[in-house]
Amino acid sequence: MESSLWSKNITNKLNSNKPGTKYDVLIIGGGLSGISTAYYLKDSKLNICLIESNKIAGGTTSLTTGKITYLQDTIYSDLESIHNFNISKKYLESQLYASKLIKDNIKKYNIDCDYIENDSYIFSDKDEDKTKIDKEYEFFKKANIDAQLVDKLPDSFPSTYALKVKNTAVFNPVKYINKLVNIIGDNIKICENVRALNITKENDYYVVKTTENDIRAKYVVVCTHYPFFVVPGLIPFKTHVEKSHVIASKIKEIKKFNAISIGKNIYSIRYHKDKDSYIVFAGESYKMSNHINYDERQKELEKKFKDNFRSDIDYRWSIHDLTSNDLLPIIGKVNDVNPNLLIATAFNKWGMTNGVLSGKILSDIILGNNNEYIDLFNPKRDITIKRCINFFIDGFNISKIYLGTKLNKNKSFYNDKVKFENIDGKSYGIYIDNNLEKHIIRNLCPHMKCSLVFNYMDKTWDCPCHGSRFDIDGNVIKGPSVYDIKTKD
Ligand SMILES: Cc1cc2nc3c(=O)[nH]c(=O)nc-3n(C[C@H](O)[C@H](O)[C@H](O)COP(=O)(O)OP(=O)(O)OC[C@H]3O[C@@H](n4cnc5c(N)ncnc54)[C@H](O)[C@@H]3O)c2cc1C
Repeated sequence: MESSLWSKNITNKLNSNKPGTKYDVLIIGGGLSGISTAYYLKDSKLNICLIESNKIAGGTTSLTTGKITYLQDTIYSDLESIHNFNISKKYLESQLYASKLIKDNIKKYNIDCDYIENDSYIFSDKDEDKTKIDKEYEFFKKANIDAQLVDKLPDSFPSTYALKVKNTAVFNPVKYINKLVNIIGDNIKICENVRALNITKENDYYVVKTTENDIRAKYVVVCTHYPFFVVPGLIPFKTHVEKSHVIASKIKEIKKFNAISIGKNIYSIRYHKDKDSYIVFAGESYKMSNHINYDERQKELEKKFKDNFRSDIDYRWSIHDLTSNDLLPIIGKVNDVNPNLLIATAFNKWGMTNGVLSGKILSDIILGNNNEYIDLFNPKRDITIKRCINFFIDGFNISKIYLGTKLNKNKSFYNDKVKFENIDGKSYGIYIDNNLEKHIIRNLCPHMKCSLVFNYMDKTWDCPCHGSRFDIDGNVIKGPSVYDIKTKD
């Protein structure tokens, strides 16, 4: 399916496949947040296991653009308007702290992960976005961070106004994780191809049912990107899913900056160097609940890239991430009734810093250490007005797509390879392959029963509500669904 610039570094099986039955800590998910949690717990005396449903580092982390930056769209002025200056500043400090954690580790272990220090920019070529950039600049001034307003990017991409900060970086997150896994060594049991199916509570232990065996653990840490349960946590009601498309293209020489535009259509630029040099270009983002024609957006991105960089495309992929309704990641104890059930999600497309930070916060919670960011990201934090408004907007958009698929209103989007049929009063999706063989699936996501849409680009059935993905025969490829789709029920 999707193969990114970093996917070639995903390694083969690392550890015995079968987990044991009882642990102090069970970490679920082997992306940057799960592996970081394991890394920060590696020297404790605790008996720990990490399970991963596919390959370590093979999830969202392998599809990211891999910038390590505290300049994140206009997040600080946005956080200030949703919360207040102190919360916004605290978030800034957390991002600087996380960037340092990554840098220190790379230095300490001499990790070869194509880490390059550079400057970060936010930019626009539209006059109406100037005020937003100015607001972000004002925030940095108030927070005593060195930032500079400039006319344009050090690149040919259209820009008329930009904000620049220093001391940011880019890296290859898969190579970084591979090294962490090496360092963790035998201290923690890591099992690939083991999927968690559900969690129940039994006295002082959680019982996690998996595709291998049941695992009992005092602490369960859920780092699965999207949690696979709805209750507790109610994450689907506190977040929405945003999808973007990404391109990588070989070039002669890299430039030492990364950038993200602000405004209506967001584009991201970074450079990467391993044995070759690349530009990585991302954009055409949309709330998955607002759009179903992924193919069209990919083509738009490729056109934009070719118009501006005139280079051939070597890699193309798409990726989605969770955005929380109040723009703060969700990291910590799920709720008071489940103090030992921990979660890390909703990184708002800034999961390199926040993934590593969540590893540090979650491990500190387990070890009983102080961590000054526990309250900031507390999943139980108060509901804000903005959060409620966003919840209703997202709910409305999801319902539109949902009803559209139910009532066949999105018909024009489908060609003769994909059909929906009602059989015995139930809706089925049918994909007809090149050999004219029909692949029939029940058109319902097992997670929260949303109707699925067909993704022509990757030939998958995707859930527009929460991002689960299935192959043409209904086998689950990406959560939150943990179950395959039945062909009939
Ligand atoms: C277009 C785009 C660009 C981005 N670029 C950047 C960037 O430049 N910088 C930045 O900081 N962030 C960026 N991000 C965000 C970042 O990529 C993600 O937030 C981050 O990778 C999430 O890491 P994770 O460990 O939480 O999830 P993942 O990497 O997805 O890891 C979760 C793992 O859990 C496994 N899993 C799922 N369900 C189960 C289960 N039931 N049982 C067992 N295992 C399970 C999955 O297979 C997966 O390997 C970007 C996001 C987007 C959309």
